[in-house]
Amino acid sequence: MVDHLKDASGGGKPLDAKDGLSLKAPIGGWLVSIADVPDPVFSGRILGDGFAIDPTDSILRAPFAGVVTSIHRAHHAVTLRAEDGAEVLMHIGLDTVALKGDGFTPHVAEGDRVNTGDPLISFDMDIISQLVRSMVVPVVLTNGERFTLTVPAVDHEIAAGDAVASIAAKGEATASSAGEAGGDATVVKVRVADPNGIHARPAGLIAEAAKTGAAEVIIRLGDRKASAASPVGLMLLGAVHNDELTIEAKGADGAEVANRIAALLGGPEATMAAASAPALAAAPEVVASPVANALPTADAPELWGPGVAKTIEGNTASPGLAVGVSVRITSEDFEVSETGADVELEIKELRAALKTAAADISAKIAASKGQQAEILKAHLSFVEDPDLRDAAWTLIRDGKSAGYAWKTAIDRQVAALRKLGNPVLAERASDLEDVRRRVLAILLGVSGSATVLPDNAIIFAADLLPSQFADLDLTKVAGIVLAYAGPTAHVSILAASKGIPAVVAAGVGVVCVPDGQPVILDADQASVRINPPEGDLADIRATVIRRRERLAANRAATQDDCYTADGKRIEVVANLGGPADVAVALEGGAEGCGLMRSEFLFLNRTTAPSEDEQYAQYQAIADGLKGRPLIIRTLDAGADKDVPYANLPKEENPALGLRGVRMSLWQPELLRTQIRALLRVKPYGQCKILLPMIATIADLRDVRKVIDEETKALGRTTPIEVGIMVEVPSAALISKTLAAEADFLSVGTNDLAQYTLAIDRVNPRLAKQLDPFHPAVLRLIQLAVEGAKAHGRWVGVCGSLSSFPLAAPVLIGLGVTELSATSGSIAEIKAMVRTLDMNKCKAVAEAALALESGEAVRRMLAQSWPEA
Ligand code: PEP
Ligand code: MG
Repeated sequence: MVDHLKDASGGGKPLDAKDGLSLKAPIGGWLVSIADVPDPVFSGRILGDGFAIDPTDSILRAPFAGVVTSIHRAHHAVTLRAEDGAEVLMHIGLDTVALKGDGFTPHVAEGDRVNTGDPLISFDMDIISQLVRSMVVPVVLTNGERFTLTVPAVDHEIAAGDAVASIAAKGEATASSAGEAGGDATVVKVRVADPNGIHARPAGLIAEAAKTGAAEVIIRLGDRKASAASPVGLMLLGAVHNDELTIEAKGADGAEVANRIAALLGGPEATMAAASAPALAAAPEVVASPVANALPTADAPELWGPGVAKTIEGNTASPGLAVGVSVRITSEDFEVSETGADVELEIKELRAALKTAAADISAKIAASKGQQAEILKAHLSFVEDPDLRDAAWTLIRDGKSAGYAWKTAIDRQVAALRKLGNPVLAERASDLEDVRRRVLAILLGVSGSATVLPDNAIIFAADLLPSQFADLDLTKVAGIVLAYAGPTAHVSILAASKGIPAVVAAGVGVVCVPDGQPVILDADQASVRINPPEGDLADIRATVIRRRERLAANRAATQDDCYTADGKRIEVVANLGGPADVAVALEGGAEGCGLMRSEFLFLNRTTAPSEDEQYAQYQAIADGLKGRPLIIRTLDAGADKDVPYANLPKEENPALGLRGVRMSLWQPELLRTQIRALLRVKPYGQCKILLPMIATIADLRDVRKVIDEETKALGRTTPIEVGIMVEVPSAALISKTLAAEADFLSVGTNDLAQYTLAIDRVNPRLAKQLDPFHPAVLRLIQLAVEGAKAHGRWVGVCGSLSSFPLAAPVLIGLGVTELSATSGSIAEIKAMVRTLDMNKCKAVAEAALALESGEAVRRMLAQSWPEA
């Protein structure tokens, strides 16, 4: 029976849950406030309110009668649920998870019923205390949304079994709805499909989905839990790829909301385009991102003296070459007074500041596009985060000022995110800091920091917040070097989108560089030279000027159609990710679109787009291209691009499972709808269909059948052209067979390299070895061209290889006649093609095929075209 407080009338009947559940000390020792636990996750009450005990005993006992809802596999933590639903987590020591169970002996298992005082876990205090930084046992109420916990007094000694706290339900409405829901909560288990775990964007989407229903939704990972409505709480779960989560939804629409969230968790979000670190300059397109170098230590190091020559290495976030002078940007930390004037007033001020911040961000979202808009949306979700706001209100009620409360609420989450040891989540901590800065600036009436920059400034900073980046006068910025941040950080994405060379994750040296030092920033090689010899500076300055002039000339000529010097027509077209990219592509000189990835319509949503919605988007793209060719690829879902509503089965090796056209044939209704929408695009002939991941002739025939049926049903008499992607080695090997039935072939070198070299394209450790210049990949392209030629079909390349100007001679030499590239690289590619003749291209291709590695191919090309 639940150990309820007794009714004052002495009737002996347990009171309603709202009247209280008495918590007995689970262990003897010194009782302390939860705020004194030296771990922000506990002291910040991120997991919930509670207390802690510095133990003198070595047996953890049940503080009330109930059911063991979870016991961590490392046996250092256990959660117990009382009959009325109150749930309490007990965590023995800090960082004890790392002991992986050594020194702990569990006495219970999940689902066991226990009485007050029953032993739960014994532990070897002598051994464990040597290994961890603290033995303190936090005891936390984990469903604070339904209950409140009261600890009458702390800082005194207690024996196991002493009454230390009480838990009461939050009021009639909550108590009764909890009672109604009781055991009827919908519980769904799901594995995290996103390769990066739950980071900002999926967290935001889940919170949005949670808010669409009335159900109260909790997501659990082991002994951690978070409200699904809190993006920050969700990130702090620290859930990584493949972790199993439990979604618990209580309320009338619980099942629906839980399933919606499960669908989102079960499928990865489209990662913010991550710049790769290629050795050669090209617009970033490869999806993999290199691992960040060791990050700098927390203490600010000494500045180097002026004139000291140093070289710093990092990771390429945005390619390019620059010469300039160093300018340090330190993060200004707004001074806020700790003590608040009046609780009501402080709350009012913070509310107003949050409202203004939300309005500012919303206005910026409306005025921005692409990745910048996505970043701002994440910031908006932080401003609206209920957990952050709750933490701030609590601090204000404890007598703190609005500014201090907001700053502290964010700082606790930032510390917790950085501690999770997940580089992607650590990068998102900067976004939280950005939101802190924005709201504090409003509270303090300070406008954006406009550092006055000299010409050719090379910015050196520990990190740059997106809003700090936006405050920079970009006409003066020649480059950026950051100690923190990784290639997937938002500042990296913004730098790449503006074409500003940037090196990130470059370590502590970055913040030691004094102002005004001459610098060579070679972002292509991820290296930064401070105070290089004057001769080198002069050489690089001349190279930069030549490059700039060349680029300007190339841009001026980019609108003309492209031919080699000896008159061979090479179409240079763009890869598009959505309608917003069309204008940028045309401005860059695209002669059409060689790959329109249709995933933008399908990802990050809970239901499939309708035929009409798809048609409207495809037609808008066709119209935007003003008659130029448009090749739209059918949905390439599966592996790293998942759509939740397709309910793809969990697979051991998703890259080798139901993806691309296989997934489409497995879910033919999705395919049929898309084909119908594509067939409606006018004028007929402009839009062609491209099929991803074709591996066999059966794949092609099966889709052809659907296309033929739908063409007939629509009464369309002009056949639509259908091409295949060559991304799987088998497609190159049987290209002659495939070309007999396909209208054209387009080589996807991202996947072709992945499957040829057996290197997972999303494995950051292997990013540098995933080299599309590898002769093995080039040989398969040669085979694809030979097969296509046998049936008079043309071959294009739309993978990242075609975005390297240096790849053009090899690809053209192999017989490729269409290069579909990122918009930013088109001017350079066209300029390169115009200098080539077919004999030279054939000779270069033949030489490349005979080389031993991708590196050797790139070296040879760089020697022949040193300026490219
Ligand atoms: C490719 O694999 O090269 C390709 C263009 O397709 P995606 O990168 O979209 O998988
Ligand atoms: Mg592909």
